[in-house]
Amino acid sequence: MRSFRFANRNPFHRSIGYGRLLDSRSKKRNLALFLGASAVAIPLSLHYFNPDAKYFFGSAAEPLSQQYFNKFIVTNNQEIERNLYLIELEPSQSTKSLPWSNQKIWSVQLKNPLIQIARHYTPLPVHLDPGALQKSNEVVLVPNSDEDARFCLLVKKYNDGDMTRYICSRNIGDTLELRGPSNDYIHDEAHISKFVMLTAGTGITVPLQLLLSEKEKSHIYTEVLQSSNIELPLVLRRLMEDLEKNGIAKFHEFDDNSRKFVTANDIPLATSSSLAFVCGPNGYINYISGPPGRNGLAPVGGLLRDRNWGIKNTIRLID
Ligand SMILES: Cc1cc2nc3c(=O)[nH]c(=O)nc-3n(C[C@H](O)[C@H](O)[C@H](O)COP(=O)(O)OP(=O)(O)OC[C@H]3O[C@@H](n4cnc5c(N)ncnc54)[C@H](O)[C@@H]3O)c2cc1C
Repeated sequence: MRSFRFANRNPFHRSIGYGRLLDSRSKKRNLALFLGASAVAIPLSLHYFNPDAKYFFGSAAEPLSQQYFNKFIVTNNQEIERNLYLIELEPSQSTKSLPWSNQKIWSVQLKNPLIQIARHYTPLPVHLDPGALQKSNEVVLVPNSDEDARFCLLVKKYNDGDMTRYICSRNIGDTLELRGPSNDYIHDEAHISKFVMLTAGTGITVPLQLLLSEKEKSHIYTEVLQSSNIELPLVLRRLMEDLEKNGIAKFHEFDDNSRKFVTANDIPLATSSSLAFVCGPNGYINYISGPPGRNGLAPVGGLLRDRNWGIKNTIRLID
């Protein structure tokens, strides 16, 4: 830069053309700098000012962020049983699918911006079959292919529930704000060959997420003991039947209404190669595994202790 200013001011340098030489070199360098900066700044600003940008530098933007809440569009909302909803969503700023994996259990946080609260929900790699809905008004779930960016939430609405009343009242075209993923469990123990999942109510989403993710690759054989106070809707039952047919899972149902509660004898005995998961309301978690304590690591009690399960092979999914 110094030689550029000097060259400009010094007539001698100009007369021998040296100044002009420096001048034109510097101009080229400045032009190159300008073009380089523009190449970075223009796409960045286009992305920044366009909230609907689905691509970033030619590749699809990530649908979820662990730091920020991203907007997702409600593409369907069906009440499949009284107060039980399937909410279908797609990312508003991405064409990519969510990070499905049969080696992980994960959830997302949904925000209610009206009262600034957030709660966890377990996404499912499925979408509604639009044909069945249109033809016979039937709700049928189709497992996603790798490219599908749509997914569903199964949400139980509580009449005094701050979050679920908000989620379930969203219409098609409205948005919901999601942040995540929160990894609730990552499978990294090679000696484990069986999962025993004790679930209640919408806790069924946990085995369904795991079992419906990446179905081509090997799954850990999973036995599910599901307790409900309603008969499971046909749309979920069909998914479970297909998983059983593929030989990767076995489902046992317990219906609170007909007083068919899960007992210790229904739970497989603990082995060195199995892991137990407990997902459901607090009362259910206490009954199955004893009070979890604040971090979920309190000693195992309840029915699981009677079947030799302990804290080393029991995972409680709590808030
Ligand atoms: C990891 C994780 C994943 C989850 N995934 C799902 C999911 O996929 N689908 C889903 O519907 N929920 C899921 N939940 C539960 C969810 O986060 C909320 O707690 C639930 O939706 C209630 O929120 P709310 O704000 O409407 O109710 P709140 O305002 O918190 O509570 C309203 C009333 O409902 C009662 N209540 C709340 N939750 C339960 C319950 N589970 N059983 C019985 N009574 C209850 C409360 O005692 C209260 O009386 C998950 C929770 C965790 C920790």
